[in-house]
Amino acid sequence: MSWQTGLIKTILDPSNWIISTDVAVVIADKFPKARHHYLVLPKADIASIFQLNKTHLPLLEELHLLAHNVIEIRGEKIDNFQIGFHAEPSMQRLHLHVISKDFVSSCLKTKKHWNSFNTPLFLPYDSLYTQLNSEGTIKRLSKVTKEALLATPLKCNQCSFVAKNIPSFKEHLQDHSAL
Ligand code: AMP
Ligand code: ZN
Repeated sequence: MSWQTGLIKTILDPSNWIISTDVAVVIADKFPKARHHYLVLPKADIASIFQLNKTHLPLLEELHLLAHNVIEIRGEKIDNFQIGFHAEPSMQRLHLHVISKDFVSSCLKTKKHWNSFNTPLFLPYDSLYTQLNSEGTIKRLSKVTKEALLATPLKCNQCSFVAKNIPSFKEHLQDHSAL
């Protein structure tokens, strides 16, 4: 089994489920990029956002509801979270990221990690839902756009600070969290 199917393997084991319904499960991200990082996945074999069509809108609503449920179960506030999809997912099986905005984690190691959640490389749930509802499909970003977004400077999501490198940025994010 290749690394791209790791999520499918993980959801086969019920001991990994934080929440489960007839159609979806919530699991912890194995390499969390913030203090809280969960994934909501359908049980149906949908590879990615690029397989979605309008018939999937009710399923997306259920995934979104479960995203809210896991935040509540953990006793956290919805406003402190980002809920959405990577515009260019790397792992198979559609998955909705539910991630706290602190981004304090030893697994956050690269500029790519940061920019994949803090530029248009991250598609908020509402944006994806609106695009699917109006256009019937989710379009890929062009290679040029992706490369430009990956090269975006490390700009803090909580103030105007722009970091020169990842170590100083991680210290800065930690300082926000300690306040
Ligand atoms: P994406 O870039 O949207 O495909 O993100 C895939 C996510 O899955 C990343 O946040 C990884 O940290 C996470 N991940 C990778 N392997 C596993 C696994 N076996 N179980 C749970 N989460 C995983
Ligand atoms: Zn800041």
